[in-house]
Parts: sequence; C-alpha cells; structure tokens
Amino acid sequence: MNTAQIQELKNHLSTPQKIVIVPHRNPDGDAIGSTTALYGYLKQLGHHCTIISPNDYPDFLKWMPFTNEIMVYEKQKTIADSLIQDADFIFILDQNAFHRAGDMETILTATNTTYVMIDHHQQPDDFATYMYSDTSMSSTCEMIYHFIDMMGHTDLITADMASSMYTGIITDTGNFKYRSTTSATLRVAAHLKDKGADSEAINRNIYDVNTPSRMKLLGVALNNLQILPEFKTAYITLTQQELNDNNFKKGDTEGFVNYGLSLKGIVFALIFIENKDDGIIKISLRSKGDFDVNLLAREHFHGGGHKNAAGGRSDLDMKATEQKLISILPSYEKALSDTII
Ligand code: 5GP
Ligand code: MN
Repeated sequence: MNTAQIQELKNHLSTPQKIVIVPHRNPDGDAIGSTTALYGYLKQLGHHCTIISPNDYPDFLKWMPFTNEIMVYEKQKTIADSLIQDADFIFILDQNAFHRAGDMETILTATNTTYVMIDHHQQPDDFATYMYSDTSMSSTCEMIYHFIDMMGHTDLITADMASSMYTGIITDTGNFKYRSTTSATLRVAAHLKDKGADSEAINRNIYDVNTPSRMKLLGVALNNLQILPEFKTAYITLTQQELNDNNFKKGDTEGFVNYGLSLKGIVFALIFIENKDDGIIKISLRSKGDFDVNLLAREHFHGGGHKNAAGGRSDLDMKATEQKLISILPSYEKALSDTII
C-alpha cells in the first residue's frame, strides 16, 4: 500500500462502514491476534465490525481479547453470508488467497466489495483493492501494528489490542526465535508492552496450558519420529486412531513439528496428521536456513506458506504419504546438504 492508498483508505474509514474481518481456516495465534486487534481498532473508529472465522479455533486462544465476538462460519453460515454480502469492506488477514478461508471461498469469490489484504505469506493472489503484503514481516500482527501506525492512530492501541498483537508475534516467531524476528519486530513488541501487553501472562496462557492427554499424545508423536539423516530430515506421523486414543482436541498438535527440527543437524522437519473427517493428511513443514518449504509444499502437497514454515495436505493414506515424501527427497538432496545451519 502506498501513501496515496493509505490516505484513500483513511478517508473511507472516517465514516462508519460495515466491515467483515476474516482470518484463515484453522486460525492460529497470528490469525486470531490480528483479526481481534484490528476489530478493537475499527470499533473505536465507529464501524460495524464482525470477525468471521471459517472454522473454530483452539481452546488455548480462547482467553484472547474480543474472541467472544468471533462468529464461526461453519456454525452460522446464513447470517455470515448475509453479513459478507452486505459488507462495505472485507479485511482478509494472515492469508494470501480465498481458498485459505476454506468453505468461505465460494461466498468471498462471489462477493463484489472492497477487499483489504494484510498478510505476510508468499505469492499473494490479486483480489484486493488495498493490498498490504510483506513477506519479510514476522507476522500479520506486526503488520497490524504498522497499519495502525500508518493510519496515524497508535494512540488508539488499548491493552487488549496490544495483547492480541503481542500473542500473534510470539506464536509466529516461536517467541522471537525465528529469523523473521527483525529489530523492527522487537521494537513493535516493546511498544506493545508499553501499551499494556502483559508478556508473562500471555506466555502462561499460551504455553502453560498443557493437558495430560496432550502430553501423552506428544509421547506418541515422539515415539513415531522418523529420522532420515542422509536427507537431514525428520518426520512425525499421527494417525486418527492415535489422536482418538489420546482425547485429541483442536490445537493439541501445535508445535509438535518443532521437535523434529530441534534435532542437531536436521534441516527439514514435517508432521503428518491424519484427519478422517476431511479425508486428508494435514501436513506441517518446517526448515532451517535457506531450505525453502514453501516451494516444496506448493509443488508436492497442495500447500504453501513461508520459506521456513509451510503447510499442505495429502489425499493419500498415511503409508503412501510417507512413501511420497521418501520418493521426493532425493531430488532435494543437494539443497538439503548445501544448507548451512
Ligand atoms: P502450520 O504448519 O502451522 O499449520 O502452518 C505454517 C504456515 O503455513 C502458516 O503460515 C500457515 O498459514 C501456512 N499454511 C498452513 N497450511 C497451509 C495450506 O494448506 N496452504 C497454504 N498455502 N498455506 C498453509
Ligand atoms: Mn501469520
């Protein structure tokens, strides 16, 4: 977005509008953080806002400010469809294409309104009138801070909004660990702390909420870990049966993939999680250094994301999905062995 576009948007937003805010399907901390922070901001400008999430989000995010205002599309499709059709503006956050909004893709594609995209994923689709896309950003939450700053309104950031944005920044950067964490990210985090984000409480709410069944599921996952040292690769599998046996709840597998990546010398880690309802294996991919999992996920697993963190899916069964990975790895052998970590 250039200065002229910012000014134009600022003019539009100077009078009350009907606004819908949409995170991606299976929203994570960044998706919920960015949508709720933007909600808090736009409400103060007097707009009529609704956050519509394609599906439900994990319990460990339900403490977050404004989450009681979130409408879940899967549960309230009719009302949600009419809000979307009526909207003057639709903000699409933490996603770069309508298909990332799952079942909402159809209504979003069919609705002719002014779209605003704020996102940090690679290769964004071209549907937004106002597109703030920056793949160098740590998180969409960091971008929401910059967006509010560009609008000249950092004075409107409340403690609740600051908590939302801080949450998305820590969840997308692995607590400021990944190299997407720039000096600007840390400055934004510092401003958010000044605005009232309680970093200790936020960390407790996000990371100290394990249940015994999640710990047991982690045990199963670690037991299933496969290491392919010749390809500097490690992967974990979890079948639907294993999930069921351990009282699986949405969000329980968050972060499991990082255990593979934490192994010394491993460059590429994946987790394959069977979802019998959707008839797919959901895949998370992570990497260190310059090994690009966004490209690999796009090419082989109908997915995408970022260079070091991407997602995708497989329509094959678990065994065949593992075989597929093993069959493609030789073509990445050089890239993997050349990756300096
Ligand atoms: P996660 O593995 O934590 O679900 O996602 C890692 C990153 O990849 C996130 O930025 C997420 O938005 C993105 N991502 C996850 N699943 C998909 C997918 O199926 N398609 C695309 N394009 N991106 C995904
Ligand atoms: Mn994100």
